[in-house]
Amino acid sequence: MIPVDQALGLVEEHAVPLAAAEVRLADALGLLLAEDVKSDINSPPYTKSLMDGYAVQAHDPAEELEVIEEITAGEVPRHAVVPGTTIRVMTGAPVPEGANAVVMQERTARAGQQHVRISDPTLKPGQNILQVGASIKKGDVVLRRGTLIRPAEVGILAEVGRVDLLAVPRPRVAILATGNELVSHGTLPDPGKIRNSNGPMLAACVRSSCGVPENLGIIRDDRDVLPSRIEQGLAHDVLLLTGGVSVGVLDLVPKVLAHLGVREVFHKVQLKPGKPLWFGCREANGRRTLVFGLPGNPASSLVCFHVFVLPAMRALAGRGFVGMSRREAWLGSDFHNRGNRATFRPALLRETDGGATVDPIRWLGSADLAALHAANALIGFPPRDQHYVAGDAMAVYLLAELRS
Ligand code: AMP
Ligand code: MG
Repeated sequence: MIPVDQALGLVEEHAVPLAAAEVRLADALGLLLAEDVKSDINSPPYTKSLMDGYAVQAHDPAEELEVIEEITAGEVPRHAVVPGTTIRVMTGAPVPEGANAVVMQERTARAGQQHVRISDPTLKPGQNILQVGASIKKGDVVLRRGTLIRPAEVGILAEVGRVDLLAVPRPRVAILATGNELVSHGTLPDPGKIRNSNGPMLAACVRSSCGVPENLGIIRDDRDVLPSRIEQGLAHDVLLLTGGVSVGVLDLVPKVLAHLGVREVFHKVQLKPGKPLWFGCREANGRRTLVFGLPGNPASSLVCFHVFVLPAMRALAGRGFVGMSRREAWLGSDFHNRGNRATFRPALLRETDGGATVDPIRWLGSADLAALHAANALIGFPPRDQHYVAGDAMAVYLLAELRS
């Protein structure tokens, strides 16, 4: 049994970014760009008006100008502006030749059908005009390799005409729940059976972090069927197994994994909940698969996902080995923590006037998922018996942020 930090270090060593791949722009949100992106056009592509108004020569002394044309966005002017004339332009329309400023409509008054009077004392060359290429020049690198693609970056990529791009892909994560007692969640369990809550829950964890889940369903604790189904899961970047990694007579998973060539990196961590956690790695056919044997108890599985799998998935996606956000909060009321393992205890974090306070939630242990429903955080307790009093500063890990 190894300490949590050592186990995390070992997972980090194995969690290297996936090879860059071509992705569609529509699928790029949240990925890391793996190429420098150059613009194939100027932006704006033509010198354009930023206002609804009149394109003029800024130093034209005439008080009334003849309106010789009117253009809206999408049109091209047919005439040039010369002294004594103006062309009415709408926002986004190209600025006609000869003009060097746009007077906003609110600073003008129509004088008959064909003329307009200008009353803009601050009128200067360049006013209300965005020059061609002012924002982006053709050939400029607009986004660098390593940039996280957020909605703004999706917009820029569209602006420079990208339909596909090179990015670090999302890890593909297979999920397989082991246990003779398991039935699908759509079934009423017979005596002695329980529903597979881990499968859908872990698929949700994967989807709400940065991965693509594939829920491979339930598998019996049976030496004859485990290998082929696990082999199927090994075709992914990450395989999450649940159950079968403790010391029971049917806890066959570690043996089957070894048989399939998955190298054990560690088994058992000084963690509560989550002690039976198994981690290994297989390299075959040019593919590396990280394998997590998560404990069957749902609360343990969920905590292990947050502590170990989430940072590994982010690292695979090129975003660094970054786990849950950690912050400090004041303990709301006295609490005694028992145990010689590091404990992540479901808790409720509240913002108050004097800073954030945190309170452990009543918790029946590893099988008690209901407590995690009530929680928005985990308190991290060090591995020792210790009495804490209200107002103590606690290390708190946020659960609510799985959306990256
Ligand atoms: P195991 O790790 O296989 O010894 O299982 C530990 C506990 O978790 C047992 O009480 C199991 O019935 C329960 N369990 C195992 N797998 C699941 C699952 N997929 N969903 C809900 N509970 C499970
Ligand atoms: Mg089991």
